[in-house]
Amino acid sequence: MKTSQDLTFHDRVVALTPGGEALEQCLQCGSCGGSCPAGADMDHTPRGLFAMIRAEMEDEVLRSNTPWYCVSCYACTTRCPQQIPITDIMYTLKQMAIQAGHYDHPHATKFSETFIGFVEQRGRSFEAGLATRYHLYHHPTDMVRLGMMGLNMLRRNRLPLRPKSIREVDQLQAILAEAKAIAAKETYR
Ligand code: SF4
Ligand code: SF4
Repeated sequence: MKTSQDLTFHDRVVALTPGGEALEQCLQCGSCGGSCPAGADMDHTPRGLFAMIRAEMEDEVLRSNTPWYCVSCYACTTRCPQQIPITDIMYTLKQMAIQAGHYDHPHATKFSETFIGFVEQRGRSFEAGLATRYHLYHHPTDMVRLGMMGLNMLRRNRLPLRPKSIREVDQLQAILAEAKAIAAKETYR
């Protein structure tokens, strides 16, 4: 019987991702990268990353900042013609990078942690807080342009200034706590 140590990198990514076997069907069409709002900051497009996984470039893939800039918007997943669970693969790669000790993208991981922190506390992201913190870290000179855009969105009532929580957020927090406890017991490599 094969253990996780016997599997190739590609096979481990597939095994750790629900529906991950669809990765075999990637057409390299580029719809994922074209849909991605965080693509400009990523080392590799999702498509590029998938080609690297197939080429067994484990170290390069796990050191890429791409999964850490993924904001789980699912735009790529909904547009992929092959129903590849792209967003879930990004989560798998983050888990594997942590296991491998490649958790070394301070800006990107901060962005990811900020996003996850809002979701864990309130059950949803808080765009104004996330965007402000992200631009202060990465593009401080862009804050004027961002401020103008924010004002326009405020005028149109499209940008809440205060974070809102979903109803019964305590139930979500209990589920997340249970999921973390299960994940802590699992061995990924
Ligand atoms: S959209 Fe789907 S099929 Fe196209 S490159 Fe991305 S992952 Fe591959
Ligand atoms: S889910 Fe992640 S990789 Fe996919 S489009 Fe959104 S940010 Fe990009």
